[in-house]
Amino acid sequence: MSTQYPVLIVEDEEKIAQILVDFFALEGFNTKVLHSGEQVISELKENTFSAVILDRMLPVVDGLTLCKQIRQFSNVPILMLTARIDEIDRLIGLDAGADDYICKPFSPREVVARVQVILRRTQTTNNIRDKGSRKLVFKDISLDLDAYVCERRDQTIELTPVEFRLLKAFIEKPGHVFSREQLMDKGYVDGRIVSNRTIDSHMKNLRHKLMQDDEISPLQAVYGIGYKLS
Ligand code: CA
Repeated sequence: MSTQYPVLIVEDEEKIAQILVDFFALEGFNTKVLHSGEQVISELKENTFSAVILDRMLPVVDGLTLCKQIRQFSNVPILMLTARIDEIDRLIGLDAGADDYICKPFSPREVVARVQVILRRTQTTNNIRDKGSRKLVFKDISLDLDAYVCERRDQTIELTPVEFRLLKAFIEKPGHVFSREQLMDKGYVDGRIVSNRTIDSHMKNLRHKLMQDDEISPLQAVYGIGYKLS
């Protein structure tokens, strides 16, 4: 699979970074490597990348902080590398907004495969674009499937790719109560199993983002079942 944009690898252990570069090259990917957290934000603001491989423990600025900072201006897919299993839900949930994670020690082949899954999703989005403008609307919320933009009352709401897919599912079926298992399928197109806590974390974040001032979020928890949009 060829890519339009390189993959940014942020990893301070040079051996690991080089192994990733080699495996990505084998699959035809271009890469760029940074060995500390220092230049990551400016690099992402100046250049376009198809995905970011972000190590959790980094010199200067750690991966968790970087992930939060990136999410303030970009929806680029982020794959976190971590040795801390206790932090996984925080990494992909409310706190940081990463799309995926891989535990260290990892197989470089697995990292490349996960990125390929992410890029296939992007290509699917591009295919929709060819069929003309598609916009989903629910009351004052609109979801532009071409531009990957969510708006409410003319204000742009920044969503992660997982949040975007979850909201798309809700808008396609207003009033329908989705179980956490169904939301897992909607949010992760690669059939991955994540914990209920992770889904709750994404939902908490999404509900919060859709809320304005003190009003009740249009996304509601249905006790013992899941969530619905109403
Ligand atoms: Ca490290």
